Amino acid sequence: MIPRPFPFRHGKEDNAEDNATYKSTASSTSDTNHTPTEYDASPVDTMTVKRLLMAAGNLPLELADMIVDQAEYWPCSSVTADYSNLPRKVLGIRGAGNDGNKFLLRTDPLGLSRWTPPNHDSWRSTQALPHKLGRELGSDRFQEFVEEPPPVSEHPVRKVVFNIRSSDQGWGGEPNDHGSYRHSWTWFDAGLERFDAEAQCDENCPSYSAEEGKGKDGHICSCAVWPVWPAVASSEGNEGAANPPRYDHDLLPTADHKIQANKVAKQGIQQHHIVWRWNDDVDPNSSAAEELERNGRGKATGNGEFVRSMKLGDIITVWGRARFGGWENRVEKVEIKVYWAV
Ligand SMILES: [Zn+2]
Repeated sequence: MIPRPFPFRHGKEDNAEDNATYKSTASSTSDTNHTPTEYDASPVDTMTVKRLLMAAGNLPLELADMIVDQAEYWPCSSVTADYSNLPRKVLGIRGAGNDGNKFLLRTDPLGLSRWTPPNHDSWRSTQALPHKLGRELGSDRFQEFVEEPPPVSEHPVRKVVFNIRSSDQGWGGEPNDHGSYRHSWTWFDAGLERFDAEAQCDENCPSYSAEEGKGKDGHICSCAVWPVWPAVASSEGNEGAANPPRYDHDLLPTADHKIQANKVAKQGIQQHHIVWRWNDDVDPNSSAAEELERNGRGKATGNGEFVRSMKLGDIITVWGRARFGGWENRVEKVEIKVYWAV
């Protein structure tokens, strides 16, 4: 599908993500000021309910786990990027040139509620340097950052929710596609990051130690957070600043990472609520997957694989995309909520 070319429309530049608001909440025992509009259980809440079920109903742990899973009474942490206080009330991602791939935000590392990055503001809003993830940091290194009760070790993530408020530029495209998700060239992808075992701190990092020439011993730093996806293009035989590694962004949406597209040429901000569950099992080649695609979602995002692949310390990222001249992804707000089992 070749998109129709569009004339360029120039608008006010906004490179003002610095004014965006980032907010995170973790349902942690130490978080007494947490007043969400809907109640998110803490790890201790979930564990207490499990113990009550076991005591009151004389149930084995396995049955209590099943009841908690069925009720979706899982601890949750959330992170939000809010661009509504920018001059245009949205962050504009334009499809022409090199600006069509915008890192928007990342979650905290799964289950590491005692871990903090050296710089909390840039942690939320800055993309990881494009390094190829080498050896992953072992989960034994994470234990000191895990609050009791810890996430279960097998498939800890149960559900990931994306709440996105956005639109495209509100014009253009084929008239037949207007108001649908067909041939929409503005969308959002979910990425994944992990801690690399061999990464060292950058000189500019607050945790950089001149004596050791890297991060403090035993310190796990945000400098070590490297992407699993999007992929990084290798610079074979061309090491050095002249040809540094870079992100290898796909031109087209990828079936297993596309969270949601915007409706084509639809005026006004739209709200999308997307839920990925660990036990989803929509075959990417089924008619149910085609239904996902008709609703602007990736055909291979209904099989639960992304959620099941997550482990302790994993980080979800959201990227905003736009392709081809004239297309603009206007992002007002993105929220990621991660639910896990204890
Ligand atoms: Zn560092």
